[in-house]
Amino acid sequence: MSTDPEKSPALPDSLWAATAAPAPLCPPLSEDRSVELCVVGGGFTGLSAAYHAAEAGAEVALVEAAEPGWGAAGRNGGQVIPGFKLDPDDLERRFGAERGRRMVDFSATAPDLVFGLVAKHGIDCGARRNGWVQAVHGRAALALEEDRVRQWRARGAALEMLDRDQIEATLGTREYIAGLLDPRGGWLQPLSFARGLARAAQGAGVSLHGLSPATRIDHSADGWKIATPAGNLTAKQVLICTNAYTNKLWPRLSRSLIPVTSFQVATEPLSDELRSRIMPKGHAGSDTRRLLRYFCVTPEGRLVVGGRGHARASESRELYAHIVSALHRLYPETAGARLDYFWSGRVVVTLDHLPKICELGPGIWSGGGYNGRGVAMATATGQLLAKCAGGASTDRLPLPPTKPQPLPFHSLRAPAIGVAVGWKRLLDAWEARSR
Ligand SMILES: Cc1cc2nc3c(=O)[nH]c(=O)nc-3n(C[C@H](O)[C@H](O)[C@H](O)COP(=O)(O)OP(=O)(O)OC[C@H]3O[C@@H](n4cnc5c(N)ncnc54)[C@H](O)[C@@H]3O)c2cc1C
Repeated sequence: MSTDPEKSPALPDSLWAATAAPAPLCPPLSEDRSVELCVVGGGFTGLSAAYHAAEAGAEVALVEAAEPGWGAAGRNGGQVIPGFKLDPDDLERRFGAERGRRMVDFSATAPDLVFGLVAKHGIDCGARRNGWVQAVHGRAALALEEDRVRQWRARGAALEMLDRDQIEATLGTREYIAGLLDPRGGWLQPLSFARGLARAAQGAGVSLHGLSPATRIDHSADGWKIATPAGNLTAKQVLICTNAYTNKLWPRLSRSLIPVTSFQVATEPLSDELRSRIMPKGHAGSDTRRLLRYFCVTPEGRLVVGGRGHARASESRELYAHIVSALHRLYPETAGARLDYFWSGRVVVTLDHLPKICELGPGIWSGGGYNGRGVAMATATGQLLAKCAGGASTDRLPLPPTKPQPLPFHSLRAPAIGVAVGWKRLLDAWEARSR
């Protein structure tokens, strides 16, 4: 798997690339221009930021190294997940009642933004808002799940706890002992959503340029100068939205990020009989493992299962062995099904499990670090970044800007992630014995 959109701008051979709505025209930047705002990176963060800034009246250009949705936005599991990884009580304890509540509200309403944009712009991405399921893999996770449901219900969200029979009926697997159903979440075809957002941004007036990697960003008398191979932009403000694909463009930012690889496989379309048993009501979900597994059935009836794995970025089939074995363990009846697609992508995990907006200098910000929950959170964070660029007071934002914190020993992250992955897998397997 290439992690460099500049060297390998073709989309991966994924199920989403094969079934997505057509891509909008995004000609490369081929002249020198001045704009108010330059957005770098065309995933959910950058597209949403560009769209919201243009809607608010700014003149915006977005430069993308490959094409909109090339990165994680066009490769993910499509789950629209409400809430951060940290539960509401934790957030209010850590950040105080007022800021904690702002963070809770932001994370709870992020799916509203996604489904609202889909409805407003008629985005053809198979979106369904029938709830997001989190399945419990062992007894140790059960009490946490029950408490999570209690916390959200205390804040007015209609989450339900599912018992063993109900989770089995919902997902069609006997692998889990319980689960939650969160009606705020759902599923969509991620590359189609990214392309729909790109069209919405163009409709709002954004100049969207594909095959236009930002190769340098320099401070200048007029703001910032952003170089691309065939044209330069001068902009008063810049938003760097390259997340897990951040390269040497802003070294202090890339040294603060921990990108990890997530892998997915998709079966051939399942028989009607299997479709009536495996996620029959079209729910998408994941589980409570540390190295979680996530799953959905697509509108064409393909079963897609994904999960984290090696730190290495490679397309070698052996790196998919753990996902194929998870698929067959969850759904033994698919053991004979052909596997048609294998693909992977990168996500950023953060040490405190929370996304980050960073102020990199005067008039330049970055956003990212969604810990595998970026469909909703990146779209919502893009909206916050547009507010930063629009001059809003940032103190009261749910994610107030911080400075990037380069990680000590960043160059050793790959072996460290390898050790952490092995350890987490062991703990998950141990906990799953107590079912
Ligand atoms: C396999 C997988 C499964 C996932 N499943 C889910 C899920 O089910 N639900 C969920 O909520 N989240 C999921 N995620 C996470 C989610 O996809 C991400 O959090 C989200 O897409 C991040 O969006 P983004 O816009 O910040 O980054 P990206 O979508 O990665 O976009 C970054 C963009 O920046 C571009 N770029 C990089 N460098 C430059 C440069 N120098 N100049 C110009 N452009 C540049 C890249 O080409 C890329 O298009 C998953 C991620 C992966 C990889």
